[in-house]
Amino acid sequence: MKTITGGCLCGAIRYEIKAEPMRVANCHCDDCRKATGAAFATMLFFKEGDIVITQGKPKAFDHTADSGNAMIKEFCDNCGSQVFGSSAGRPGIKNVKVGSIDDAAFVKPEVNVYVSRALSYSHIDKNLNNFDKMPTG
Ligand SMILES: [Zn+2]
Ligand SMILES: [Zn+2]
Repeated sequence: MKTITGGCLCGAIRYEIKAEPMRVANCHCDDCRKATGAAFATMLFFKEGDIVITQGKPKAFDHTADSGNAMIKEFCDNCGSQVFGSSAGRPGIKNVKVGSIDDAAFVKPEVNVYVSRALSYSHIDKNLNNFDKMPTG
């Protein structure tokens, strides 16, 4: 298994992961759009303990999702890049934003969520598991 490495744009935050992602999802919700500055967010989910921060310390921002769960976005307070996210509804699980990964060529999303909010130009692969909102459970 290759080690996944990544970090923020300025390089202040660096991390390493020696694990396969549990799940890879594209999220088309408004919050992800705002937080990433992109049309949608691609996130790789890992056990929190599998993500080893080797340099720097992300700053955290908490907000409430429409599920009512507290969501946490972690980003570099120098360059603003979002690197991690998590939800109080899924303790012990963290997501890594695809854009922070050094070589993301291996990433293959399996799921699209909040397809109902997707921008008209976002391509939705019909062969994936697609959900209008966030699937529960
Ligand atoms: Zn940075
Ligand atoms: Zn989202």
